[in-house]
Amino acid sequence: MDIRQQSAEQAIALLSGIKERSPFYAKKYADVDLTGIKSIEDFQTLPFTEKDDLRDAYPLGLSAVDSSRIVRIHSSSGTTGTPVIIPYTAKDVQDWSIMFARCYEMAGITCDDRIQITPGYGLWTAGIGFQLGAELLGAMAIPMGPGNTDKQLQLMMDLEATVLGATSSYALLLAEEIAKRGIGDKIKLRKGVIGSERWGEKMRARIANELGVELHDIYGLTEIYGPGIGINCEAQSAMHCWDDYLYFEIIDPQTGKVLPDGESGELVITTLQKEGAPLIRYRTHDLTRIVAGDCPCGSPYTRIETLIGRSDDMIKVKGINIFPAHIEEALATVPGASSEYQVMIDHVFGKDIMTIFFETALSDDERPAVEESLNKAIQQKLSLSIVPKAVNLGDLPRSEKKSKRIFDNRY
Ligand code: ZN
Repeated sequence: MDIRQQSAEQAIALLSGIKERSPFYAKKYADVDLTGIKSIEDFQTLPFTEKDDLRDAYPLGLSAVDSSRIVRIHSSSGTTGTPVIIPYTAKDVQDWSIMFARCYEMAGITCDDRIQITPGYGLWTAGIGFQLGAELLGAMAIPMGPGNTDKQLQLMMDLEATVLGATSSYALLLAEEIAKRGIGDKIKLRKGVIGSERWGEKMRARIANELGVELHDIYGLTEIYGPGIGINCEAQSAMHCWDDYLYFEIIDPQTGKVLPDGESGELVITTLQKEGAPLIRYRTHDLTRIVAGDCPCGSPYTRIETLIGRSDDMIKVKGINIFPAHIEEALATVPGASSEYQVMIDHVFGKDIMTIFFETALSDDERPAVEESLNKAIQQKLSLSIVPKAVNLGDLPRSEKKSKRIFDNRY
């Protein structure tokens, strides 16, 4: 039996007794006869767990253990309305650290490394996840958190940090700052572990070049432990994910039907070992695909492709489905355009108008040509005409968390 089949079997086995343990699932699956779920085809008929279900369980309604066994909670950044609170038992915290340490190992990071951790600490899972994994691995954690660039760079030099843990936008900000200050030769970084955001090839190349590091994408979400549930190996860009802790499915976001390996769709995760807040068929809204076949690195763990977007990031302009990845890919083909961009969609005089702002180092009289190439690139990719607007390097906002790049002003 291969590792994914095993994972599927575990997902089915998990259902036995779940209603007794979890009041949340007792209610959610009140009308579902779980004893009838025997095959993976049966499993695929189970209703999904949605983020709204988790919100409705606020504050501790997700808990499937006695409250004395909860050692910690985390909360997902509730940009809209009620946040989601996820309770963890001691085993959950330990399992998370095992997964995160495994990520570091897969990226070739060892106990000799010094890991500068710039994602935030607190209710958010990011910083503390990087920390747990580093400590279990036996590496030196430098728990900076975000911001204070002066101090960040000073400690990076003085402590000779070898690994940077960051979001892609903050890694870019640091890379630019290092270039600007001309301190590249004092930086000892060799690896970047970049979390949670989907980012384009051009931005990746810039960060890798300016920091002089090999980059690894780390995947995760607060509802499912946090960052550390998958990372790309040194062989290639798809991320290995830990099937012994989680069962992965890819569904069509519109119909909810499970798609065969290799097809792109929304990632759905079932936790196999989680005690505090087990989740069954949780819709991540992350779009990716399962990469079939064996990885050259030899690892048996399932691989998912670098995220291509979020199903709720998808915007429809003039009837065409657009993902941020499309814009990034188009930008990557335009010489002179940097990877930083922002999209505005407006409805003017009965028509949708999509404006793409992008940064460039080119002078004013060189800009019309590069604007026109972007227009052509988008037209080729999406059969859509846009308004391209070149701006100066550094004009678009950088953020320490996730950058919002698409602004839909139509509604
Ligand atoms: Zn591999």
